[in-house]
Amino acid sequence: MGRKKLLVGNWKMNKTILEAEVFAKASLDLSAFAEQREIEIGVCPTFLGLKTVKEINPKLIVGAQNCSEFDHGAYTGEIAIPMLKEIGINWCLVGHSERRSYYGETNEHCNAKIKALIAADMVPLYCVGETLDQFEKGETKAVVEEQIRIGLSGLSADDVRNLVVAYEPVWSIGTGKNASKEIAQDVCGYIRKLLRASFGENAEKIRILYGGSVKPVNVKEYLSEPDIDGALVGGASLAVESFRELIANIGE
Ligand code: PEP
Repeated sequence: MGRKKLLVGNWKMNKTILEAEVFAKASLDLSAFAEQREIEIGVCPTFLGLKTVKEINPKLIVGAQNCSEFDHGAYTGEIAIPMLKEIGINWCLVGHSERRSYYGETNEHCNAKIKALIAADMVPLYCVGETLDQFEKGETKAVVEEQIRIGLSGLSADDVRNLVVAYEPVWSIGTGKNASKEIAQDVCGYIRKLLRASFGENAEKIRILYGGSVKPVNVKEYLSEPDIDGALVGGASLAVESFRELIANIGE
């Protein structure tokens, strides 16, 4: 069975609850449009917007942008997985580069979060990717290999059946400098190879997304590559019209 195309918007620290509500109402049409094209769509609002968006459009994948690896306790400012589950949230980003660079999240933290999410039957969307400096030094594959090896260590082939991985070169996030489709495919193909080595044939079920300055004008080129199953989109996911264009341009 082929991997279903997946388009996920990362809203970062944008949209108040009211603004998220406006998008969610408009997304009812988007869901129908995407369904016709056999594309799964989702958004990752702030914690505050999660419940509202999920209630208004239960068909939309609604993911948190982060979670604690702990279930409860003295972790001021954190949100636990059972709290997300209680409001119907089953997806969560892990290791977005902004969390890694601004909040010191390591591959080991990511591993703990991914394990906790899988134990809770949730879908981790694990973000990996190299910085500009690492890219310029030719270290992309070594960096990604370490992120995959440590981030997914201790998981079985069965554990990863719902996992999603996003390759997001840090130098392309929010910069307008998207990686070429050749670079993106080369790294996503490499990620698939690593996944195959660890998880055997289940690696074929894992969806790998490209993220980094994806816009309606360039989304299709990524999706036509064999190891790129969708996109993780920041800026271009915020406006309903632009989200609709992303779906439309992915094509049939
Ligand atoms: C992101 O936040 O994951 C992202 C890819 O952002 P942008 O599309 O704005 O580059």
